[in-house]
Amino acid sequence: MDISLVIPLYNEAESLPELEAWIARVMQENGFSYEIWFVNDGSTDNSWQVIEELRRKNPCVKGVSFRRNYGKSPALFTGFEKVQGDVVITMDADLQDSPDEIPELYRMITVDGYDLVSGWKKKRYDPLSKTIPTKLFNATARKVSGIKLHDFNCGLKAYRREVVKSIEVYGDMHRYIPYLAKNAGYTRIGEKVVHHRARKYGKTKFGLDRFVNGYLDLITLWFFSKFGVKPMHFFGLLGSLMFFIGFVAVIVVGVTKLYNLYHGYPYRLVTDSPYFYLALTFMILGTQLFLTGFVGELISRNATERNKYQVSEVLD
Ligand code: UDP
Ligand code: MG
Repeated sequence: MDISLVIPLYNEAESLPELEAWIARVMQENGFSYEIWFVNDGSTDNSWQVIEELRRKNPCVKGVSFRRNYGKSPALFTGFEKVQGDVVITMDADLQDSPDEIPELYRMITVDGYDLVSGWKKKRYDPLSKTIPTKLFNATARKVSGIKLHDFNCGLKAYRREVVKSIEVYGDMHRYIPYLAKNAGYTRIGEKVVHHRARKYGKTKFGLDRFVNGYLDLITLWFFSKFGVKPMHFFGLLGSLMFFIGFVAVIVVGVTKLYNLYHGYPYRLVTDSPYFYLALTFMILGTQLFLTGFVGELISRNATERNKYQVSEVLD
């Protein structure tokens, strides 16, 4: 099979028939063999009935339905588990992404040899309250991940099948799939300018909290990729450094007092010096960071993924 589409959806009943017809037309015109995996993320409207209806007309339509709403990442993950096509393409269900991009995305994966091609909504049809924070968000993501993409969170993306089988999208991590792919060793990441359209039916499912959560997730991923299996290298260094500063400061405070005492200069109680308390705090925080490192090591020692590596070739 050439192409598997994965389409997560939450209350998008009005858009689905139009979307399916458009996809089917593009596939037919280009002679692709394909499947469409609709992942119904616990919709409360009649999206699932619509999908069942579409299936009766087109056997390429397949679907999974969640009992409740889990989020876009769990929906993508579930779709990725099912797909069988050589190229996997994800797309939003709200008709904001155009199926006309499919042939070119397919070509970029199969001919140009990219592992992943991400859409870039160069001209966006979204409210300003979304487009401005998005610019900032992408700049940060570029910096942290080292991947030169303009639009990390574009719903329209294409992958070589093995890529989606070797990454684990969870929580809200769909925003950083290119980063996940890079951490899994797939570094041929490309970009394609795609047409974007205003939402035709329904409304957006994400509020402004997307940006706060997005940043937190980025920090988590950065931490995982750097210190996931060696937390002590992070906490141990920080802890030792803080403890050391505190320790030196305590010595300085103590020695100063003894020095003044010895020479008969005026002196004050160690506990009257603000530096004493700062030093104490530093030492306590340093110890705690160090202990956090130990606990982290104990946890990672028990993690099943501790020795999971992405192997591309074996000669035996
Ligand atoms: N979506 C989903 N589960 C959710 C929220 C969204 O499957 O909990 C789907 C939604 O139906 C759409 C896609 O994810 O197909 C992108 O959502 P939306 O269009 O609301 O995001 P935006 O375009 O505003 O970034
Ligand atoms: Mg949308």
